[in-house]
Amino acid sequence: MITFTKLYLQLTLLFFTCCVSKLSFGHEIDHSTVALSADEQVFIQNNPAITLASGDSFEPFTILNADGSVSGFDADLVNIISERTGLKIKLALGNWKEMQARTKRREFDGISTASPDEDRKTYLNFSKPYTKLYSVVLVQKGNPLNIRNIDDLENKRIALQKGNLAFERMVKATGMNISPVYVDSIHDMIKTLVSDQADFTVLDESYAYVAQLVGLEKLIEVGFVLGKKPFDLTFGLRNDKPELVSIINKGLASVTADEMLVLRNRWLGGFGSDRYGDQNTIPFSPKEVQFLKQQQRITVCVTPDGMPFESLTKGKHDGMSKDYLAILTSRLGLKTNIYPTRSWQETIQALGQRQCDVATLAMKPSQHNQGISYTSPIVTSPINIITQQANQTLSDLNSLANKKVAMVQDTLLGEFIRKHYPNIHIVDAVNSQQALESVNNKQTDAYIGSAIIARHIMLTQPNFNLKVVDVIPYDMELTVATRADLPELASLFQKTINLMDKKENQQIYNKWVTTQYKIKNHYQGVIKISLGLLAIIIAVLLWNYSLRKEKHKTALALEQVNQMNLLLAKKNDELALLANTDELTGLWNRKKINQTLKHEFLLAQRNQYDFGVILIDIDLFKSINDCHGHQIGDEILIEFAKQLRYLARESDLVARWGGEEFLLICPLTIETELFQIAERLRKKIAMLPFEHIQSLTVSMGVASHRNETDCRALLKRADQALYQAKHAGRNRAILG
Ligand code: GH3
Ligand code: MG
Ligand code: MG
Repeated sequence: MITFTKLYLQLTLLFFTCCVSKLSFGHEIDHSTVALSADEQVFIQNNPAITLASGDSFEPFTILNADGSVSGFDADLVNIISERTGLKIKLALGNWKEMQARTKRREFDGISTASPDEDRKTYLNFSKPYTKLYSVVLVQKGNPLNIRNIDDLENKRIALQKGNLAFERMVKATGMNISPVYVDSIHDMIKTLVSDQADFTVLDESYAYVAQLVGLEKLIEVGFVLGKKPFDLTFGLRNDKPELVSIINKGLASVTADEMLVLRNRWLGGFGSDRYGDQNTIPFSPKEVQFLKQQQRITVCVTPDGMPFESLTKGKHDGMSKDYLAILTSRLGLKTNIYPTRSWQETIQALGQRQCDVATLAMKPSQHNQGISYTSPIVTSPINIITQQANQTLSDLNSLANKKVAMVQDTLLGEFIRKHYPNIHIVDAVNSQQALESVNNKQTDAYIGSAIIARHIMLTQPNFNLKVVDVIPYDMELTVATRADLPELASLFQKTINLMDKKENQQIYNKWVTTQYKIKNHYQGVIKISLGLLAIIIAVLLWNYSLRKEKHKTALALEQVNQMNLLLAKKNDELALLANTDELTGLWNRKKINQTLKHEFLLAQRNQYDFGVILIDIDLFKSINDCHGHQIGDEILIEFAKQLRYLARESDLVARWGGEEFLLICPLTIETELFQIAERLRKKIAMLPFEHIQSLTVSMGVASHRNETDCRALLKRADQALYQAKHAGRNRAILG
């Protein structure tokens, strides 16, 4: 009882933390207590505590701890319901069959982790489902037998738990030749699979937690999700106390979608939920769960003037890092303190000295920093080459040979440039502001660095006389940096980043950075800018005219002409961007992608650099036009392009190749990965909803760079593979 109270207190605290952290980021949350009827209130007065029975092998829903306490998804959930309704709910675990019999004899008030079975309805009322679980077909990591759908199970061996009639029935129902390999426990199902004694097994979404318990989570993966319908988990409550089901349902209704997400992320790794449909997620480990319970609050280092990444004004944190942090910490149920620093260098120092726990949007340094861990990137920033406005000769990396180029010191990008362009003289700067200043003051010839920061600085400092001359195909990776002595914090952030929805990520990016990736119809933009240009030219001419007339105003007028020129140059930059984009879809156009392809070839020739292309052609697009008209066809192409940009990795370059054909360039990608990317894209595209049409499919030609010296050879291979894909029946990817 004492341990239960302790657990209860801890969970209540944890829950409180989670609410407050959300509040502090301005989310609305209703954590008022549930409104109970008079009957229900009387019931709770007379029955202040109830006990629900569950099985002792239902991890991670109910987990029996060494000290006899119960933790897990259900334990967290019933504690929330307890707190909201005032009805204390205890969980008792034991042999599932026995526990059900005892519940039937009214020794318990009900069962948790239950499916609303017809037989049980004679003595139980069932609550609304509290979660849904999909069944998944598990295979060995890498899916060596390529088990992707039900047909692929023919002549395969399944690891089956003895006595698990439901699964046995399911196998029989397929009518296929599947040989069972019987084992004693769920743990053994996974072990048998990994040791090659079975080809696949079937579990629900909690598989990852179970696999982790036996240390095999990295050796299995989901082949495919079995069936479209998940099964429900509910509470079964004794039907001679009818108030119980209504109280529990009210408690359940008060659990918000976000709170449920925290629970699912904590115990199931978010797999299968609509928002986080990524199949490669791993749930939190017992150590991580423990860390979250103990830590509750983390300290975040924030610099005052790093916009658009972050700023701190009167203690108020703003910028991209604030938005990312709000999402990540609310999913983890963590509360934050701000530790203000004066510069990024100070942030890194403070992190190393453990004065703060986390810094968001950190560039990975070129030298490994002992005290700091870095997650995989949450944002990648394109890299710009920026020169003085008057420059006519510097246009790309090659033209910078023997020039002085300002770069932020100690970055991976700097190392990359030093290695591959040794003729460039790099001048170290503390930050982008200083680097751009040195170009503006003509102390250096160009800046190479983050396009996101540079753009912000140039927009906020119009006196800078600079222009963007090129975007180089290298992505600067911005990650979450954490104290290396808190490995759980690093892995928790990493998992939460893995679970982040791509759209969510894109929204933040778009909110703070308007980039070439922004999808819009650029056609109007061209007209607007052209008109703008015309107006400016007329204005300049008028000014010149007035100059001649009123010579005494020369000085002032010249200044204004300068301003106009600046504006003109800016508009020119925007026009240059438009020249590279496809009018209809806003993606890169064929010209731009051809340039980029040449650059990738250069990189590939110079070192061991893998990359590849995926040529995508929408299947039977002509019939869409024929059926719905060209206008609707256009709309579908626009939506398709938008989705393709979202679905592709941020580092992939996406272009409209022409008509209903699109080309992806995947930098730094080996052949097997390239094909996997294509397959994943193809499947996701087939599931996308479109207005006017149910769905569409694509065929793909995939080609990985193999020592060719000419882009055309690579493109030809992709094109031939695409042709084969069409010929073989469409809706498939073929590696050329
Ligand atoms: P397949 O599966 O063999 O690729 O069949 P398909 O119908 O997609 O291929 P086909 O090459 O026969 O036809 C391509 C169609 O795409 C014909 C053309 O009208 C349409 N299309 C190309 N560009 C555009 C565009 O910009 N807007 C619209 N609405 N349709 C376009
Ligand atoms: Mg075509
Ligand atoms: Mg087509």
